[in-house]
Amino acid sequence: MNSIYRVAVLAGDGIGPEVMREAIRVLRAVEAASTLRFQLTEAPVGWAAIDAKGEALPAETLNLCRQSDAILFGSVGLPDRDPSISKERRPERAALLRIRREFGLYANLRPVQLPLALAHICPLRPERQGAGLDLLVVRELTGGMYFGQPKLTETLPDGQRRAIDTMVYTTREIERIARIAFESALVRRKKVTSIDKANVLENGILWREVVSQIGREYPTVTLEHMFVDNAAMQLMIRPTQFDVLLCENMFGDILSDEAAALAGSLGMLPSASLGSKGDHETTFGFYEPAGGTAPDIAGKNLANPIAQILSAALMLRYSFRQEAAALAIEQAVTAVLNQGFRTGDIHNASDPNCRRVGTIEMGEAVSREIAKVLLAAQT
Ligand code: NAD
Repeated sequence: MNSIYRVAVLAGDGIGPEVMREAIRVLRAVEAASTLRFQLTEAPVGWAAIDAKGEALPAETLNLCRQSDAILFGSVGLPDRDPSISKERRPERAALLRIRREFGLYANLRPVQLPLALAHICPLRPERQGAGLDLLVVRELTGGMYFGQPKLTETLPDGQRRAIDTMVYTTREIERIARIAFESALVRRKKVTSIDKANVLENGILWREVVSQIGREYPTVTLEHMFVDNAAMQLMIRPTQFDVLLCENMFGDILSDEAAALAGSLGMLPSASLGSKGDHETTFGFYEPAGGTAPDIAGKNLANPIAQILSAALMLRYSFRQEAAALAIEQAVTAVLNQGFRTGDIHNASDPNCRRVGTIEMGEAVSREIAKVLLAAQT
């Protein structure tokens, strides 16, 4: 019998609650077809929490996160709500940034998968998509240019203003993110492409040195280095060459959005942010869809729940080390797409094999497949 995994479930605003409901349905289907058990405890966050408790991340919600093994998050923020509330109290800052800081979330993982069944939503020509896209961007999240000091704007004696941002990385910061990239590659196609600007930046030289050193601990993983400008181009020309892309914070910010565009819809893209909790060095994870609260389609059974469902799969992989169950969810999603199930964002009206469904029907279809995939794996 496995232990019971404790999950803080924070659905948030907009489409958050409806896509989260489907992710929970899928986790319950995993339980029904395996020995895994989840203690899923829901708590308010975002505007839902401001309405109920007066703040975007109430103390009870934060305490629940501290007592849990992982956080499964929906999304927060409603642009049209009460403009009089200060930026500091709005959910994007008060909830998201607070959680990032609290749990030292230093690694952001964004898998981008485009199964062949969805070739029509990719902006690239079919011949550039190969047999379907499948890459993982591993981005350092707490260092580099966004956090380095000094960071200021000053006025010079001649009246000009000067802005300074500082790019800083220590070997330890590079080592720990590199290890996550190599560990991820081990359960994928065993290739890491490390992105830097070693031809111009001191940071790039150190990054390349340290990543190469860590790479020697993983002899079965192929390591290549690529300058960031070339990587931006290669993602458009031949994205199938990539397995794991390892990036510092700013390069990862830009390249992960470029890579995400290849998947065609935000509704398909999960993400994981990994860090540590308390004094423990164990992997603590925060799992959320790449998209936001999508107020334009909220409450209409139109949202694609796949990003939220795949975020739950990442939680099983990275926080609970349950690779078989994570894979089962991913395979169930692929199977459902191959069967033609499509929410509006990925629907192709000219394909007679496509069946347009709502959020609930998509979640139900994936849940039905889970049982088949897990039972087939056991026999
Ligand atoms: P958004 O991601 O919410 O929506 C952009 C477009 O993508 C919309 O057309 C939307 O309908 C579509 N979309 C997103 N997710 C979808 C899904 N699952 N299925 C189908 N279509 C989907 O971005 P936005 O409109 O710029 O932001 C709305 C709010 O969300 C803002 O308040 C923003 O701050 C917040 N936001 C929160 C997070 C987060 O919680 N991590 C991330 C991004 C944006």
